[in-house]
Amino acid sequence: MPQHNLYIQNTLSRQKEKFEPLHPPHVGLYVCGPTVYGEAHLGHARPYVTFDVLYRYLSHLGYKVRYVRNITDVGHLENDGDEGEDKIAKKARLEQLEPMEVVELYTESFHESMRLLNNHHPGIEPRASGHIPEQIEMIQRIIDNGFAYVSNGSVYFDVSTYAQNNDYGKLSGRVIEELIAGAGNERRELEGQEEKRNPADFALWKKADERHIMRWSSPWSIGFPGWHIECSAMSRKYLGETFDIHGGGMDLVFPHHESEIAQSKGSCGHAPVKYWMHNNMITINGRKMGKSLGNFITLKEFFEGSNALLEQAYSPMTIRFFILQAHYRSTLDFSNEALKAAEKAYKRIYNGLRSLRSLEHPGEASSPDDQLKERVLSAINQCYEGLNDDLNTAVTIAALFELLKIINSLKGGQIAWEKLEPEVFESLRNTYALMVETILGLREERGKTAQFSEVLMDTILEAYRSAKERKDYSQVDAIRARLKSEGIVVKDAKTGISWDYEE
Ligand SMILES: [Zn+2]
Repeated sequence: MPQHNLYIQNTLSRQKEKFEPLHPPHVGLYVCGPTVYGEAHLGHARPYVTFDVLYRYLSHLGYKVRYVRNITDVGHLENDGDEGEDKIAKKARLEQLEPMEVVELYTESFHESMRLLNNHHPGIEPRASGHIPEQIEMIQRIIDNGFAYVSNGSVYFDVSTYAQNNDYGKLSGRVIEELIAGAGNERRELEGQEEKRNPADFALWKKADERHIMRWSSPWSIGFPGWHIECSAMSRKYLGETFDIHGGGMDLVFPHHESEIAQSKGSCGHAPVKYWMHNNMITINGRKMGKSLGNFITLKEFFEGSNALLEQAYSPMTIRFFILQAHYRSTLDFSNEALKAAEKAYKRIYNGLRSLRSLEHPGEASSPDDQLKERVLSAINQCYEGLNDDLNTAVTIAALFELLKIINSLKGGQIAWEKLEPEVFESLRNTYALMVETILGLREERGKTAQFSEVLMDTILEAYRSAKERKDYSQVDAIRARLKSEGIVVKDAKTGISWDYEE
């Protein structure tokens, strides 16, 4: 049984709770995936990087994590409501494509961006359109239990009946009376609302009109599922009626996740999820970044620098580091300055890892320094404490910078090897590499334009050294300048010649 001290903030209780899975060592993790009607943007990267780190940390602790992240390829309507055009069908109409061509195109592009960000692929990635029978079955059970009704071929969840004996609004903190009384005021005029008994009711199944080209047979009409029922049906299929963690962006708490709870309770009588986790939003000048707001920058544009808001290109690891530098529940504001700082910090962290790999402890410490040992052990401890405190990667990264100072002092000779015991150095080395690569999921990005190998770099530095020996300074300068243009600096120290990523 994994031993750990991990606490996570549960949106449902609004408290940090000790993580105790339902069926250890197994953990069920469900994260709402993208609606694939356009390129993934920075706002998408945050939940997927956050829950990738959670997946990595839980796996490191010894849990067997089943990670499910869906693809929404039908049923997500404009404005996230029950009316309007399907987002994918609309894109298909505008681009004169089949809806499934739109889905393939943007699913593949999403996967490519996730790979570049070094996110693990989920264990299961179900598509909503591939799980229509499961959704129909779940809707039927909700109707049979008296929590949904059929109206003109569509099926709606009956919020006021459900709320008589259930806590509708608990997750989002919304007040049910206000939802029922007030939600309709501005919506009432919208088409289709007259089908509902109450404006707070939400669609489980929609009868397809002539605009909806994605349609399936059901007991109620030829139509398509509501957006919320998709996640309920797919998470139940792969993780069971109750599972451990459900993640997503804060903007999904209401109505999406609130509705998921109601659908599960309405169909099988109990809550679907033990821990609800929500990441905060990425903002641009204080406003949420989103497709519907038109102020988003796609991940591809970041990687290429091809957006007027960007002063340069930012690599996938810079984006990953930028996201991890903040706690996932804090807001994160986009700016070129913040991204440049993240780029520099990422390179410093990685140079530290390269240094560590080249450093060799001579084998014994003749005058061990207890204070130094304490400093190292406390920073190592802080790496874990950060993660255990609701996945606070900002704290972990601060601890890595503390370890980095020690690494650089060992490398530069300011700290003598005889002061640090070999086993303490070994812990430092192991923890640093584990945190940077295995848990935070950072990886080395070499050069701006091309991949190059260590052997090649050794050869270049050899040429540099011999140019210096024969006092051919124009050659020395030329090599330095050429490497600098690739983001590499030659370190010419008394102890030897080496290279680093330019910070
Ligand atoms: Zn979802």
